[in-house]
Amino acid sequence: MSFLRLDNVVKRYGEHFAVQGVSLSAEKGEFVVFVGPSGCGKSTLLRMIAGLEETSGGDVLIDEKIVTHVEPARREVAMVFQSYALYPHMSVFDNLAFGLRMVKTSEDEIKKRVTEAARILQIEPLLQRKPRQLSGGQRQRVAIGRAIVRNPKLFLFDEPLSNLDAELRTQMRVEIAKLHRALGVTMVYVTHDQIEAMTLADRIVVLRAGRVEQIGTPTELYDNPANMFVAGFIGSPKMNFLPTRVTAVAERQLTVSSPAFVGGAIAIATKGPHQTKIGDDLTVGMRPEHLEVRSANPVLTLKADFTEYLGGASQIYAQPADGPVMTIVSPGRLGITRNEDLAVGIAPDHVYLFDQQGLAI
Ligand code: ADP
Repeated sequence: MSFLRLDNVVKRYGEHFAVQGVSLSAEKGEFVVFVGPSGCGKSTLLRMIAGLEETSGGDVLIDEKIVTHVEPARREVAMVFQSYALYPHMSVFDNLAFGLRMVKTSEDEIKKRVTEAARILQIEPLLQRKPRQLSGGQRQRVAIGRAIVRNPKLFLFDEPLSNLDAELRTQMRVEIAKLHRALGVTMVYVTHDQIEAMTLADRIVVLRAGRVEQIGTPTELYDNPANMFVAGFIGSPKMNFLPTRVTAVAERQLTVSSPAFVGGAIAIATKGPHQTKIGDDLTVGMRPEHLEVRSANPVLTLKADFTEYLGGASQIYAQPADGPVMTIVSPGRLGITRNEDLAVGIAPDHVYLFDQQGLAI
């Protein structure tokens, strides 16, 4: 049985359903990331696991026990917040010790656990400082330390890196990944940042409007998104979407037309059987990093509009005769000029197809 299980969990605020029946599970030691746009219900879901929010329906199970109505302190979980939530008048040591003193842990044991957490987080020289004497990254480390000393069964992180600048965020992201490796504890992490989700997660749960859109490993979601929402959310820059119309149908293949295609149409293999008919409107998806500029086997003809040079790579914005602007990421500097006609190629297995409901075909 799974270490953490949510069974059709619902959260309702008046008439508004913030979480609309979410079921999922996490194995012991797994790093699960909830990701989705602001307001999709990820924090609410995390707070229901912590017990900080009552559920309106369904059950939360931790380590095979139903804890839906168990108070937070008895769930053996520790939560790290975006806001750090440190006590400003207490030293780092006392901040770390506070939770343990509340449950009457002996001072010897407190010293042992605080010292060990400080060692893991490399904050030993800071133990006598006050929070105001720390940088943002150091404060976040103390907040994580406060969770570590409690030796919880489950770590919950609510957007812990959102208040840090870009460089520190990358650094702390690596540290959290190492912490997970060192402790081997189950972690659930909430973020709106798909890069954090991709880099940290064993498994990602993509949420939208209080529902699960897809659950999978980072590579599963990247390679086989179930729908256009996941396809657009995972991957950066975002997947390009091109409107097309079906002109020929075979058992495992569809031919779709668009003025953007060389010769007006391309044939695409489907993932499995499908119910598509001639004349249906479908969306073709292509990731920017899979498009090849000045290809010997072009699939698209695009007119270059604007190029950004990022040092090692270029980001090119280009448009078909009749269709939306597409993004291409290309290694190196290609010296592309404005209004240049680009012959753009893509490997057939990198072309995605979505039906009118946005589901992958
Ligand atoms: P996320 O963490 O994905 O940004 P939240 O879980 O914070 O989203 O919120 C999910 C939805 O529930 C949002 O539409 C939000 O406005 C609503 N919501 C959150 N907390 C409350 C509350 N205390 N009262 C009413 N609505 C709330």
